[in-house]
Amino acid sequence: MPHVQTTKGGILPFEFGATTEKLFGEDFADDEFSGDVKVFGEVADVGSCFVVRGRIECQRNFTCDRCLTQATEKISSKFAEEFDKSAVIDDLIDVTELLRDELLLSRPMKNLCKADCKGLCPVCGANLNDGECGCDKAVINPKLAVLKDFKFD
Ligand SMILES: [Zn+2]
Ligand SMILES: [Zn+2]
Repeated sequence: MPHVQTTKGGILPFEFGATTEKLFGEDFADDEFSGDVKVFGEVADVGSCFVVRGRIECQRNFTCDRCLTQATEKISSKFAEEFDKSAVIDDLIDVTELLRDELLLSRPMKNLCKADCKGLCPVCGANLNDGECGCDKAVINPKLAVLKDFKFD
């Protein structure tokens, strides 16, 4: 479990790295977040509480919403949270929950392998990122034709 060191009346920087399994347990979000996590930032004693702020970086594995292939992206998320002084034990603050929530909240609304992913052919199901499949896609429901040029992001 990750902890950060505090100092009374001052600011202490922190930096550590570990696998998600090591930080959050083996079953953390299955295989979505794998590999090494990098965390760095600082803890400041602001009088009434401690403020922990910094950045967490991790690799995320997901399935593309459009072409259904496995893809990875690098997540880099900023965080800042206040901790009550009663949360400090032996000058340490447990940031497990803060970091775990930060990773889960960093998930984007849309999972795309790349911004201009062409998706799958509606006729034969081929991955259009690999090239044109040659299907005649002109046979399209006239109601849907207006959507043809619509950008989904
Ligand atoms: Zn895709
Ligand atoms: Zn096709």
